[in-house]
Amino acid sequence: MNIILLGPPGAGKGTQSQRLVENHGMRQLSTGDMLRSAVKAATPIGLQAKAVMERGEFVSDEIVSALIDAELAAMGEGVGAIFDGYPRTAAQSEALDEILAKHGRKLDHVIELDVNEDALVERITGRFTCANCGKGYHDTFETPRQQGVCDKCGSTEFKRRPDDTEETVRKRMGEYRGKTAPILEPYDERGIVTRVDGMAAIDDVTAAIDAVLS
Ligand code: AMP
Repeated sequence: MNIILLGPPGAGKGTQSQRLVENHGMRQLSTGDMLRSAVKAATPIGLQAKAVMERGEFVSDEIVSALIDAELAAMGEGVGAIFDGYPRTAAQSEALDEILAKHGRKLDHVIELDVNEDALVERITGRFTCANCGKGYHDTFETPRQQGVCDKCGSTEFKRRPDDTEETVRKRMGEYRGKTAPILEPYDERGIVTRVDGMAAIDDVTAAIDAVLS
């Protein structure tokens, strides 16, 4: 099973991907995470992407498609892929079809998380993750059970994304509306899109996604 999780920044793609990984043994392919690792490791791609990401703009189609191709090449055949934050442009969506065919895969579902943009700004500017295991938290909606200690791994180190400021979030939403939302149309024509209410409680969103996959 190969699925795309689509939605503006803060729609819950990362949270729901983590659950699909835990509950269904699928693999999350997040170009945002791959790029952040490249920035941290100061690789040539990372050096190129850093400023673009901090401005909330898109990294080039060639770079992100090459990252996805390499990840799929390294993955076991029977393992399902969740594309999180990719494709984001028409060129990437065409590239994905070719890459999937090359690896003997096909796209089964595109799930769009439908959300209210103003609520997203609050979601995004309050979010943080465990620096060790990556578990996601939020200042208001999901604090660690013991303040300052990760529920999952006990680490006391947390981090925030440098592009999670209100100004950059608004820019990233504009990019989503202008370049990413239009890629849904061809998928709609193929009859593989399901829209899920991304403003519902996290467990309800997970249940709605599970219903699509079953
Ligand atoms: P994300 O973690 O998915 O919100 O991505 C963070 C940032 O990485 C985006 O704002 C872009 O600058 C860059 N990025 C991630 N995925 C892509 C993609 N598929 N195409 C272009 N840029 C991307």
